[in-house]
This record gives sequence, structure tokens and C-alpha cells, in this order.
Amino acid sequence: MIYDVTVIGAGAIGTSVAYHLCKKGFSVALIDRGDIASGSSSHCDAVALISDKAPGLDTKMGDASIRHYRELAESFSYDFEYDRKGCLYVCETEEELAAASSYAKRQAADGYDMKIVDAKTMREMEPYLADDLLGGIWTPGDIAVCPYKVCFAFVEEGKKLGLKVYPYTHISRIRLSANRMVEAVETDAGDILTKRVINCAGVWAPDVGKLVGLDIPIQPRKGMNLISEQTKRIVWHKVMEFGYMMSKFESINFRRNVSSLVEEYNVAFNIEYTKADNILLGGYRGFRGFDVRSELEAMQAIAERGIRFYPCLKGINCIRSYAGVRPYVKDHLPVVSAVDEVPGFYIAAGHEGDGICLSPITGKLMAQLVAGETTDFDIRRLRFSRFTEAQRTA
Ligand SMILES: Cc1cc2nc3c(=O)[nH]c(=O)nc-3n(C[C@H](O)[C@H](O)[C@H](O)COP(=O)(O)OP(=O)(O)OC[C@H]3O[C@@H](n4cnc5c(N)ncnc54)[C@H](O)[C@@H]3O)c2cc1C
Repeated sequence: MIYDVTVIGAGAIGTSVAYHLCKKGFSVALIDRGDIASGSSSHCDAVALISDKAPGLDTKMGDASIRHYRELAESFSYDFEYDRKGCLYVCETEEELAAASSYAKRQAADGYDMKIVDAKTMREMEPYLADDLLGGIWTPGDIAVCPYKVCFAFVEEGKKLGLKVYPYTHISRIRLSANRMVEAVETDAGDILTKRVINCAGVWAPDVGKLVGLDIPIQPRKGMNLISEQTKRIVWHKVMEFGYMMSKFESINFRRNVSSLVEEYNVAFNIEYTKADNILLGGYRGFRGFDVRSELEAMQAIAERGIRFYPCLKGINCIRSYAGVRPYVKDHLPVVSAVDEVPGFYIAAGHEGDGICLSPITGKLMAQLVAGETTDFDIRRLRFSRFTEAQRTA
């Protein structure tokens, strides 16, 4: 059999791409060298937000994806814990509040449900917040999902449409024809004949790219979370500090009044509760290659920042921590694209801290691209060729 498409990588992106292709009637193979969701998609947080997105395309994709999540939650028989919990960004200083206000106004003007709440309203929503905070941004439509269940949901629903899954399968080569068209993926389970390959290998997408001679500029950007013991409810929504924006986008330039430890680890407070009554406390961003060991000082910095916003955390024990890597691209946009140099080769990777959020819309857009249809919106900025064009003009 010759598959229409072979998807490499069974994380939040690859499983969604595979499912959406099956929906369009393509025959699809999904390969992973590990199990489903064994990469970044099981070492992360659980939220899909528009409130952490840059205005414009970034927010547009986030919003479309969150809406699509809702449709999927209603139509799938596999429960991936869709929860419309909303997100509250909190501000410590007048300067932050002013920046938050102009950001929220801009997003509201574009039609998104986002507004500034004052300190009193904020404390009614989250009574355990520190009492010196000045206000924040409230985005009621932001959601949470269970990230690895999202992957399993796409796989199980895809199987109903004929999806063939190859877990624990190692790729040795992507075979191209004389005119460089994709022909087959050679694996330790035999050759998988295919007309197209989609590289959805997240932080490992550069390795898969090398198999067809491509240089894909995605880097691992580490993150870490603390998990608390089971505890009484102290948090009701996703709550983050506005300084999070600063840790995500290097271009945002205001300094917080934080300890050198918090500064050094680029820690920005975010917190959420889990269905099991634990608290998830994050997070930090750093470049440590593929090293996902927990770092003691980073844990201390995360705890310090958490206690600053929720002082009652001081009395709650941390039971474990975990780290993962985000597939980082310098311009903070993923690659969702065909590759002109290798006909039949596509890339859907580089979603950094938004891969769970953007999973449904990425799958939908990639299926439209492969089918030769007009995509739901203009995604020319996500083309792979932007990197080669930038190199040429440099
Ligand atoms: C601490 C932390 C918190 C985060 N919080 C959030 C959040 O709240 N919301 C959000 O939207 N995002 C969040 N993210 C980001 C999110 O985890 C990623 O963007 C997302 O998981 C990327 O999904 P992916 O499918 O591209 O990659 P992955 O999930 O890593 O999947 C890639 C797959 O490819 C496979 N693979 C690699 N190489 C090969 C090969 N040669 N052959 C076969 N298979 C291969 C891997 O085994 C893996 O299963 C967070 C990340 C971290 C680290």
C-alpha cells in the first residue's frame, strides 16, 4: 500500500494533523519513535489561551483553535478534559497595568473578549491573591485541556477513520526519487511507501529535516513546573503575572522588581489547579539544550515567585517537579508549510509554548494545505521559506 501521507511525530501537532487528514479522506500513517504523547506534549501545562498571544495572526490562530477545541469536545467520544476556566493576568505596578490596559484595548478592538478588571473584582475572583496587586486582564474564553489526552483523542478518533499508527518505530531514511519527490520512509518496521511526509517532530524537527537536507531553525527552550500536594481550593482560574509576557517575548522591555534568582531563571509566575486537587506552579524559560532534569535553583525561584502572588502557598508542600522543552523559533511563529525544495515534504512544528493551544487549528490548516484548498486564513507568514529568504537578504 502507498499512503497518501505519513506524519512523523505523535505529539499534539502530529496527532491533530493526522486526524484532520483522515477527516479529508486521505490514507494516513502516523509514526513515532516512542509512544503517543511521549515528547513535549506530556511535559507541559494544560492551557489554550488567547491572552498570551501577540495581537494579529498569533491571536487569530489561538482563537480559532480554542473554538475548534469546543467543537471537538462536543463531537469526540474520547474525553480530553475541556474546561473553560478563563485566564487572569495580574499586575504588580502602575507601569504593568498601563501596558496591560493598552494590550487588552487593542485585543478588544480586534473583537476578542478581554477586559481590564480592578483590584477589588480581581480579589473577588481569586480571594487568595496577594492584597497589594493593582488589577489585571480577564479573558473568560481561555480554556484548559489535558494535553496528552488531546493526543490520544485525536489518535482514537483518527483510527475510526482508518488512521494507521506506528509507535516505537525508528526512521533510518526518507527516500526521495531522482527528482527529489518523497517516495518512502524507511524504518525498523520496514519501508512505509508514501506520497507525502509531514514533519511534526517538535523540538526534534531539525533532525527529521536533515534526512532530506533541510536546516530547520527550531531550538529547545526549557520550562519547568512544581506540583503541590493535594490541597483545598485556593485558585479558580488560570492566573499569570503580566511579566509572563516579558519572559516569552524578548522584545518586551520592562524590568520587574524581582530577586536576582527570579531574574536569572527568567521565572514568570503562573498557576492552575488540576482535577486531582493539586496545584501546578510555573514556570521558567531557559536554553539548556535537551537537558530536562529539574534544577534546584529554578525550583526555588518558581516557589519564591508563586508565594509572592499567593502567599498561602508557603504552607503547601511541593511533591514533585518536571521539566520539558518547547520548540522555539526566533520569530515566535510556528512553521506550517510545504517545502518547495522537496516536493511532498511538509513541516508543522515550532509552536514553542503554544503547541497545545494551536494543535486543532494547525491540524486543520495543514489538511487544507495538503488538499490544495484555500486555508481558513492567510498563513503565508508561517512558510518555511521565510528562513531561506531571511538568509538571502542578510
Ligand atoms: C513546561 C512547559 C509548559 C508548557 N505549557 C503549555 C501550555 O500551557 N499550553 C500550550 O499550548 N503549550 C504549552 N507548552 C508547549 C507545548 O508543550 C509544545 O508546544 C507542544 O507540546 C509541541 O507539540 P509537538 O507535537 O510539536 O511536539 P511533541 O509533543 O514533542 O511531539 C513530537 C513527537 O515527535 C517524536 N519524534 C521526534 N523525532 C522523531 C523521529 N526521528 N522519528 C519518529 N518520531 C520522532 C517524539 O517522540 C514526539 O512524540 C509547554 C511546554 C513546556 C515545556
